[in-house]
Amino acid sequence: MEHLDAIVIGMGPGGETVADRLLSAGRRVAVVERDLVGGECAYWACVPTKTLLRSPEVRAEAAGAAGVGEAALEWPELRSYRDQMIRHLDDSQQAEGYEERGALVLRGDARVVGRDPWRVAVGTSEYTADHVVVATGSGVLVPPIEGLEQLGPDVLWTNREATTLTEIPRTALVVGGSAVGVELGQFLARVGTRVTVVQRGPRLLDREEPRLCELISDQFERDGTTVHLSSQVNSVSRDGDGVLAVLSGGERVRADVMVLATGRVPRGTSSDWPNSESSRSAAPCRSTTTAGSPPACGRSGTSRPGRCSPTWPSTRAVWSARTSSATTGGPTTPASPGWSSPTRRSPPWG
Ligand SMILES: Cc1cc2nc3c(=O)[nH]c(=O)nc-3n(C[C@H](O)[C@H](O)[C@H](O)COP(=O)(O)OP(=O)(O)OC[C@H]3O[C@@H](n4cnc5c(N)ncnc54)[C@H](O)[C@@H]3O)c2cc1C
Repeated sequence: MEHLDAIVIGMGPGGETVADRLLSAGRRVAVVERDLVGGECAYWACVPTKTLLRSPEVRAEAAGAAGVGEAALEWPELRSYRDQMIRHLDDSQQAEGYEERGALVLRGDARVVGRDPWRVAVGTSEYTADHVVVATGSGVLVPPIEGLEQLGPDVLWTNREATTLTEIPRTALVVGGSAVGVELGQFLARVGTRVTVVQRGPRLLDREEPRLCELISDQFERDGTTVHLSSQVNSVSRDGDGVLAVLSGGERVRADVMVLATGRVPRGTSSDWPNSESSRSAAPCRSTTTAGSPPACGRSGTSRPGRCSPTWPSTRAVWSARTSSATTGGPTTPASPGWSSPTRRSPPWG
């Protein structure tokens, strides 16, 4: 069994930073990644969202500048640039880069299976190490919406489907009005989708400076986006090729796709990661606002503690079991809604 100075599990920005420092210090390091080296950020989050937002932003700026003709947005070109920026979901160069620096690059799901020394299993192999770094990131929080499990990835999108989209949907229901919902909603609206945003809180971006809320609300209005504040999606059902959602205020919204932007939960289970309880200590949060009476943007709006905001009522019991075929470059299946409480098992080493 190979012994290492450190094993880094998860190669998103967190794991990459640690691995880089350890390798620079001359340590013998194994890095383990079950999806793509670069993590969520490089392929389905920071990089594609900023890439996709930029061209519509330029067009909107041009439209507002005197003496500038209307700029045309070419979706096939933008899509192709997005694909280049996310490396066509191919991380082979990144993996080779780590190998060239002396790292042992392991592909697969890592599990900590013992300690003193730490033992990590990847597939059928085991490795020991002085240190293990768990940098497994977060997955989509799947809210408890009745009927959600009936929807497939063709109509139920997470940030993964939304950022790797190939065709622009005619209509979209974005669930969540924080950073991810605002970004994805604005992008879609500006490439021609009729967008409805449902935000549980009393204002958009409710963890940010209220002035930002005003600005983004004005912008959404100009983009033709409909916003439901202090509202939730209660149930969903298939409606032809799309989704029919019923909101807490009784409104019915029909959309080609529903985009979950409802927050994130840590990946992994407590039985996989010893001492991981502290990483998931956010208490479930209940909005104290009354549905249907959204206060205006401003400090008078009810705000909730930051650590609570991205969660849904009773989300402590909600965990996403994300499956992905990303390494094959194919579309990913969104988190399947398994609402069961994470069960606490004894660590395998007793
Ligand atoms: C739509 C969107 C837009 C965003 N935009 C920005 C932005 O503009 N700027 C910004 O700073 N942040 C942004 N973020 C946040 C940013 O993506 C995260 O903060 C960042 O990805 C977290 O890095 P991480 O390394 O902790 O986790 P991740 O990037 O999630 O990486 C964790 C890695 O661990 C791997 N893994 C998990 N479990 C295992 C296991 N058992 N074995 C092996 N590997 C495992 C996963 O496959 C993954 O590759 C955005 C997020 C989203 C969703």
